[in-house]
Formats: sequence, C-alpha cells, structure tokens
Amino acid sequence: MAMRVHEFAKQHNLSNKEVMELLREHGYDIKSHMSRIDEDAHKLLQKHVSGDKSQQHNKKSAEKTQQKHDKKASTQEKSTQAQQKENVEQKNSSALPEGAIRVEHKTVAQLAQEINIPANQLILDLLKQGTVATLNQTLSPNVVENVAQSYDFIPFHPEELETRDEDATPEKSAPAEGEYVERLPIVVVIGHVDHGKTTLLDHIRYTRVAAREKGGITQHLGAYQADTEHGKMVFLDTPGHEAFTIMRKRGVSVADVAVLIVAADDGVMPQTVEAIQQAQAVDVPIIVAINKMDKVDQSQLDKVYQDLARYNLVPEQWGGGTSCVPVSAYYGDGVSELLELVNLQADILELSANISVSATGYVLESRLEKGFGPVATVICHHGKLRVGDYFACGSMHGKVSSLRNSLGQQIQEAGPSEPVLVAGFPELPQAGDVLKVGTQKEVKKGALETDVQEQRVKTPKEGAINLVIKVDSVSSRDALVDAIEKLSQKMPQALHVVSAEVGAVTERDVVFAKDIGARIYGLHTRVESNAASMAQKANIHISIFNIIYRLLEDLEHVAREKQPIKMSTRKVGEATVLKVFRIKNVGVVAGARVNQGYMSSEGYLVVWRGKQRIGEGPVKSLQHERKTVKEVRKGFECAFVIEGLEDWQEDDRVECYCEFADS
Ligand code: GDP
Repeated sequence: MAMRVHEFAKQHNLSNKEVMELLREHGYDIKSHMSRIDEDAHKLLQKHVSGDKSQQHNKKSAEKTQQKHDKKASTQEKSTQAQQKENVEQKNSSALPEGAIRVEHKTVAQLAQEINIPANQLILDLLKQGTVATLNQTLSPNVVENVAQSYDFIPFHPEELETRDEDATPEKSAPAEGEYVERLPIVVVIGHVDHGKTTLLDHIRYTRVAAREKGGITQHLGAYQADTEHGKMVFLDTPGHEAFTIMRKRGVSVADVAVLIVAADDGVMPQTVEAIQQAQAVDVPIIVAINKMDKVDQSQLDKVYQDLARYNLVPEQWGGGTSCVPVSAYYGDGVSELLELVNLQADILELSANISVSATGYVLESRLEKGFGPVATVICHHGKLRVGDYFACGSMHGKVSSLRNSLGQQIQEAGPSEPVLVAGFPELPQAGDVLKVGTQKEVKKGALETDVQEQRVKTPKEGAINLVIKVDSVSSRDALVDAIEKLSQKMPQALHVVSAEVGAVTERDVVFAKDIGARIYGLHTRVESNAASMAQKANIHISIFNIIYRLLEDLEHVAREKQPIKMSTRKVGEATVLKVFRIKNVGVVAGARVNQGYMSSEGYLVVWRGKQRIGEGPVKSLQHERKTVKEVRKGFECAFVIEGLEDWQEDDRVECYCEFADS
C-alpha cells in the first residue's frame, strides 16, 4: 500500500519529523513529509510502532519535556535579563546593577572605568570605529551605547526609566517572555486574474466557515477564519498582490503560507510569475493549486508542472519539493487535499505566539464607518489586543475604543491571528501599517517605532549605488543626505539614497536592502542583532560610522572603485553524492550530504570519482529540504544540478569553489 510519510505519522500519532528521521536512519531517501513510503519501509515503521510503542511514547514525552524545559530555560534566561533591566528601572543610576550602563553623555575616562578597561584601550577601540577621542572628551549617548553593547553591557536609557516608572501598571510591566500558544496559520491566495482565487476563497468561506458563523458573517474584515476538516486557518481576503505589496514594503510576513492558484487550461501566466517571485522574495512557502481541472484533460497537468519547474517550483510528482494539488474550486474537488497540505505546512512552521507581551500586529485594510470613525482590520502576531489599549500605528497613535469580530460582535480582546475590526484611530491608517500597544506615555512619545516614514522612500536607480541610510536624528539625516547628494555629483558612479530613516538598522531594513540591491549605511546608530545575522546570511553590506566624513570617504571609495577588485577562487566545501534522480525538464539531480564547509548556489562545482575528475560546472539550482537556498552547511543534505552533467553516481565527491574579492 503506497502511503505518504504524513499519513503514517498521523495514523500512529507520531510527528512527521520522527517518521522521516527513522526512515532516513534506515537508509531510505525521504525528502519530505509528502514522500511516499514503499512496502518495506511501511513494514519497518509498523514494526517500530508496535514493538517499540511504549519506548517511543516515553521518548516522545521525554523530548516534549525537554522542549518545554528548553523553552522554559530560554524564558528564564530572558527573564533574568528582563529582571536585570527591571531592577535597573527601579533604581536610580547610582544603583545600577552589574552589567548595566546608563546611556548618557560621559567622558572617555568615566566610560572606561565603568566597563573596567584601560582608557587607552577604549580610545583605540573608538578610533577603530572612526571616533577620535581624548581621555577627557565627552562622548555622545549613542557612542556610549555602542561601546556598552560591544562590551556586552546592557545599555540603559534614563528616559526609559522615567517613562516606565510613571506608566508602569501591573499589566504593562509584564515581562517580554512568557506564555507561548499555537497560532493559526494565515494563508494568502495568489495567482493570475481569472484563475479562480475568488472562487476558491468563496468555496472555503461558504462550505468551510465554522458552522456557527455560517451565513452569519456580517462584517467584511479582509480576512476570515475557516474551521476546515484539517484545522482552523485564517484566509486573507485581500487580493494576493496587495498583501504582498504590503509585505514587500514593510519587510514583514503578514501571511505564513501562500496558495498559488494556476488555471490548468491557461498555465503559468505573467501575474503567476509575479506572484511566485513575490512569495519567494519574502520566503513564504508556496503550495500550488492547479485549478479548473474539471475543464481539462489530466495530460494538461504535465504542461503546468513543466511551467512551474522553470520558476524553481519543481512538483513533488516529479521528485521536487513543491506540493501541487489538482483542484476544481468551482466544484470543490481536491480542495480538502489542498487544505490538508496547508495544515501540514503550518505544522512544519510550528507557528506560535507570545500572548504575554503587548500586542503587535498589522493593518490589513481601513475605512471610515458611521458611528465609529476610522476603523481598520488588524491581525496580531503576538500579544492580545484589548479594548482600552493605547497603541501607536504608522505615524499616529490612538486608544482602542471597540473591537468587533467577523460576526460584527463586540469583543473585549483579540488574540494572535484573529482578524479584528479596531476602532479608535484618529485618522485612517494604511494597509501594512504596524500597530503596537504600549503605555500611554510610550505611545504619545512615539517610542514604539511604528512610523515607517515611507514618504522618504524613493525608487532605486539602475546603474547607481543605491543606499539605505539609518541615522540617530532628523538633523543628522538631513545633513548626511545633503552631503551624499553633493558627493554623488562628483563621482563617476551616482550615489542614490533610496531611504533615510531615524533609528537602528532593523531586519526590515535588511529585507528592503536585499529587495532593491542596496547597501546600508548608518551614522551614529547601531545594528539590531537579528538584523546583523540576517544581513550576514543575505550578504548585505552594512557599514556603521560615528563620523560623517568617514562615511563619505567610504562611499567615495565605493563609488570610484579606486582599485579594480581582485578576485580569487577558493574551495568552500565538499559534499558526497547519496542519491541520483532524473527529473523531467530539469535534468539529473544529485542529492548529497555536505561533509566539509558549505555548498553555495553561486559556486562552481568539480566532481571527482576516486581520482578521476568526471565533470564540472556552475551550480544550477541548490536546494535544501525542498527549498531553493543560497547555502547548505556541513552536516546537511542538499540537491543540485550541473548543466550538462548526467553521469552522476553515488559516492561521487563534489568540491565547491567560490570567488572572493581580495581585500
Ligand atoms: P480570480 O480573478 O482569480 O478571483 O478568478 P475567479 O474566481 O473570479 O474565477 C474566474 C472565472 O473562472 C469565474 O467565471 C469562475 O466561475 C471560473 N472558475 C473558477 N474556478 C473554476 C473551476 O474550478 N472550474 C471552472 N470550470 N471554472 C472555474
């Protein structure tokens, strides 16, 4: 009996991961939870579950306990930090706990003493960062903060103390760690016009909406919750491209899963391609629904698969990693299987939300409503939004005066993933605006960083060096942007400021810079740690300076390309081929395990069989766990193709070479 991994897992109350690992341990080539298991593998699994059930159960619960323990440990770790900060807040500066530094003007000598390093070492460190300072020179709070962080001290802002002391209520001072709950997946349906998005959404809405809601939806929210036979999910009702425009602009994932709908009779069309690229740009997993199957012959499927494979969506039916389901949205055929796949994808994503923190969410749409004024549909990713909450949203702030669900009922609170209509805005917010709950003071002072200052975003220029700028204040921003414009006029290659904002470099900046191929420059600011690691992975250039002319010098250097960049080729990793498979219209794919360094999608591969060099070429497509990736590191499995090389064999050794600019 041919069965898929997830079916077996479900039948036996195991996780997909457990089943996949077990099969892999026994040498089966299992690519995903959708892989089919043959009779032998099935027997092996049966034996395992029957003979070993109690042991398994113990293992599972032990793992769960461990996970809980880990979560708790990390919570406690965070808790310690929060506690430390809280302690800081409760005391005045003279009583700062160990590990905290007050961010304010102070001299080099004072700071050196506080962080317990010789003053000359601090002077040297500052020089390396571009700040020339003498022993008695007063450093700005920004520099103090940067230094504190680089020495692993907790920077502590005095105004934070004032705000929190005055504002603190038991509820608001809830720690940032806390209770995590499962969150419903948010699904967006995308695809070419007329391919059946509305029909599919309507089918799900009217046949699958929770019984109590049937016919009762009075409130258009731009999203609805469906209680499907495969679990509850939230569907965005806004046209897919709008949701993605929001996501691209803000660099946030409003949706967790994208269902790409492709009409079987039409195949992949221009807007399908656009939708694929948009979803891939924000890394949202795609499940393909091949629609209108009632209209066409089964053979048409192959044509659609072929089209999809060209855009890195190789169907599982061809051994690739993309789930494709033939459906008829009109008659409802295949929709259940589609929803099952969405549910599985959500399981894999392990979506969770922290409900102990202040709510954060996104505006999906807004309108004026009689009796309520400006209202907006909001979906929170964390926290619970409550009537009476103060919030900042975009560049405005307000207080939640009412919350309504999709039945039009007044509710007191809305949890994560729950679309809710919020009243209490002073004016209409825009789709995609971030909403954050805070104390009255935080909200009024604009301390919640929800203003994305979009009006300052310009279109990137082709041929220019596009720049994303972050600074500490409006005055430095204006000065820097002016200076860059002047410098640009003298340069052989134009410098073009695409955006200039006040604040630290965040993940959103990195996503944005990646999207438009820009460099990020910061003046008197810092890089959030998540953003730093994201930038490193995405190979985005971030430079932070504390002196404006140093920043300009660096830019000048880049614009003039003073020295032609010398490139050298270096070996970055090695992999051993485990399995070879042929995929129609793609070529011969080598499945391998990386045993040294990493494999890069930009690499050049040389293939060895024993001492014989049997082929070479650039990597055509590098995949890991069904996803196209840039790198796969040691210990992990990957799959790739080399154009023209078909003679792969198991145990072939593959060396990966990359080019680097010599500094
Ligand atoms: P959208 O523009 O992507 O939202 O597409 P619609 O849902 O409005 O569908 C466009 C047209 O295709 C409508 O006339 C639908 O009735 C029709 N349609 C949608 N799904 C199917 C299907 O599964 N089978 C058939 N035969 N027609 C369909």
